[in-house]
Amino acid sequence: TGTSSSLSVTPKKSQPWVQVVGHAGSFHSGGDGMLLKRHTEGEQLCLQRLMDDSLRPFVPGYHGVVRRSEQHYNMMDNLLTHFNSPAIMDCKMGTRTYLEEELVKAQERPQPRQDMYEKMVDVDPEAPTAEERAQQAVLKTRYMQWRETLSSTTTLGFRIDGIKKADGVCNTNFKRTKSREQVMQALQDFVGSHTLILKGYLRRLQELRLVLETSKFFRTHEVVGSSLLFVHDSTGKTGVWMIDFGKTVPLPPPLTLDHRTPWVEGNREDGYLWGLDNLIDVLTDMLPL
Ligand code: ATP
Ligand code: MG
Ligand code: MG
Repeated sequence: TGTSSSLSVTPKKSQPWVQVVGHAGSFHSGGDGMLLKRHTEGEQLCLQRLMDDSLRPFVPGYHGVVRRSEQHYNMMDNLLTHFNSPAIMDCKMGTRTYLEEELVKAQERPQPRQDMYEKMVDVDPEAPTAEERAQQAVLKTRYMQWRETLSSTTTLGFRIDGIKKADGVCNTNFKRTKSREQVMQALQDFVGSHTLILKGYLRRLQELRLVLETSKFFRTHEVVGSSLLFVHDSTGKTGVWMIDFGKTVPLPPPLTLDHRTPWVEGNREDGYLWGLDNLIDVLTDMLPL
């Protein structure tokens, strides 16, 4: 169960699985079009609920928990299965990539962090305040919020996390790809000059937006750190799916989100749909006149 119907006409090839971003070592090829991801209960519950939601055609089919050499994994469809030497892009959605509960935890025990200060200085020597410089440390909350402002996460509600082109060249160096122009350039480089591919992506994203606007799952979850996985190949076949529900958490009823209202601490809004609106806008502007 759980395989998407429209793609199943192509016979299964042994498309090897390739990982664009994420924790190395968390994944194994499950064989037979399956992928195993290191188990977390939160992600299991999300994938289970999604199999009963209108979003089901937009997520990898979920096949339960399996054990391989003392480790538990969530087994799901390998989304690359029906593609030939695919180009792949991971777009992390939302205006925030940490959960409210992570922020609250960090606020409850404010600890100056030297390691985070060093990471900050590595990226931007000008970023620390005079006080932070004197301490040679920053608070975790400050670091989390600063990091979001480097990329387009805060300003566009999505960021490119990684791109692997058909020739195998992988680029995960988008941490400072921030302006609309920079993002459009990277997207242009990914889709190339094939209008058909661009149009395929746009159609799929517009369908996804319609379903997101009515999905019960989406309304009742804070969706953070989740990505849209874009896949295309030289035949012109395209696909987009929602992946990575490691930081997607159910809201306490009766709270719901519209995913467009700006975030203020406590309202739990994640900016996911606002980001999708912006992504669709940028891709639409790339269409030739
Ligand atoms: P993160 O650092 O974003 O939390 P993670 O360890 O939770 O990463 P994912 O984001 O779920 O991992 O996946 C990492 C990468 O693995 C994706 O960018 C994609 O390239 C690949 N991937 C994940 N799920 C699938 C799938 N179902 N089919 C094909 N590729 C997948
Ligand atoms: Mg991810
Ligand atoms: Mg994750």
